Order: sequence, then C-alpha cells, then structure tokens
Amino acid sequence: MRKKVTIEVDIDTEKPGTTGMQGNLATPNLIKIEVRKDAGSFPHDTPEGSLAHELGHAIATIFNLPEFRDDPRTSTNRDTLRYRMYGPDSDMAQRVYNHEKLAWDFARVMLPGMDQREVEDSLRDYRRDIKTGGDR
Ligand SMILES: [Zn+2]
Repeated sequence: MRKKVTIEVDIDTEKPGTTGMQGNLATPNLIKIEVRKDAGSFPHDTPEGSLAHELGHAIATIFNLPEFRDDPRTSTNRDTLRYRMYGPDSDMAQRVYNHEKLAWDFARVMLPGMDQREVEDSLRDYRRDIKTGGDR
C-alpha cells in the first residue's frame, strides 16, 4: 500500500461555525479539519477532544473503513442526496452512529484521559435519531 494524504487542521474557537472534516472527491488526498466555536457547544466539549474525534474520521476516511463507506453523509455514497434532503431514516441513522462511534473510539486512543461525558454528549443525539428515524 502506498498513500500520501495531507491533513490540514484549522483551529479557531472564536470563529462561529461547525467543527468538522471535509474530504473532497476532487482532492481525495487533502483532508481539511476545522475546529470552531461550536466545539464548546456541549458543557464538556474541548477543542482537543473535537480535533481527536475529527482525526478519527480522517483515519476512517484514509483507510476507507466500512463505517466510513456506509455513512450516508460521505460524498461517494449514493444515500447522500436522500440523507441531505430528507434526513436519516433509522437505518441511515444507525450507519451515521457507527461512524461517529468509531471516530470517538479513535479519539479515546489519542486522548486516553479525555472526559467521557464529551463522548456521551455527542453520541446521544445520534442514538436518538436511530430510535426516531430522524424525526425531530
Ligand atoms: Zn463526527
């Protein structure tokens, strides 16, 4: 295996916006991670926890792990449009949850002492979507 990927990290916790990772089909070897003000939107959120989580998504993306491939939000997945237009059904919500959980599992390896409440706060909403089929 040979792969060369650049991960660009942009942290600005004063700037409003959504923390997240962007991979792009046009530039598959560039992964951009932005950590923004909303990294503190839950009481136990930390910028380092948020970054570790996004790096977990980056690992899943780089190695094309099943949790990444099955996530309806990923740009190569045929579910993407339906997901974005109508939101998740229960099955989609489960697949989103699986990818989110994996990213947190990686984050816990990177930051062994991290506050587990940060993980739980994040996963709670995704778990709820599985039950409700995204009906909010
Ligand atoms: Zn995530």
